[in-house]
Amino acid sequence: MGPPGAGKGTQATAVAEHFGIPAISTGDIFRANVGQGTPLGVEAKRYMDAGEYVPDEVTNNMVRSRIAESDAGAGFLLDGYPRTLAQVTELDSMIQATGHQLDAVLVLTVDQEAVVTRLLKRAEIEGRADDTEDVIRRRLEVYAAETEPLIAVYGGRGLVVSVDGMGEIADVQQRIFAALDDVPES
Ligand code: ADP
Repeated sequence: MGPPGAGKGTQATAVAEHFGIPAISTGDIFRANVGQGTPLGVEAKRYMDAGEYVPDEVTNNMVRSRIAESDAGAGFLLDGYPRTLAQVTELDSMIQATGHQLDAVLVLTVDQEAVVTRLLKRAEIEGRADDTEDVIRRRLEVYAAETEPLIAVYGGRGLVVSVDGMGEIADVQQRIFAALDDVPES
């Protein structure tokens, strides 16, 4: 978890590779659907372009079918999910059904102005439709209102591993692996 621009996608790929599990990024799956013009993509795009969350039901159904795929059998890393309380509840029931359990909730902490700068820079390189300054500000607002409170929910379960996400990618990665070393494996 972490606000837009915290570096979740970059770090998720490294962590998943290390553990030999898939990194399941809801943002990436939505963008792939947008790119292919699927019905899911057409629906998701309206929300994404405005910096709003895609409705829970749509997102939950997508994650449920993704984690049922065979490559996720031995475990998986979720990037960008859950983001709402309804998604937390739904994830609990999904993984109860698949026999998985949550080992850790990794939180990347970053400075708000720094992430705006990062995202504006990414906009120049990747040209993502939701990386304009207005939409970035809206995404940060939605994150603060809907997703940040979930850190306390998972904190209450003793699952939160908090890592400083500022600085070089490699340094953040080192911190993440050091912090995850202390998490007991299920
Ligand atoms: P960011 O780091 O800006 O949040 P993502 O690629 O993770 O970027 O997500 C891009 C967009 O995809 C979000 O702004 C939202 O519209 C949609 N999205 C991704 N994950 C979820 C989710 N769990 N619930 C609802 N919408 C989501």
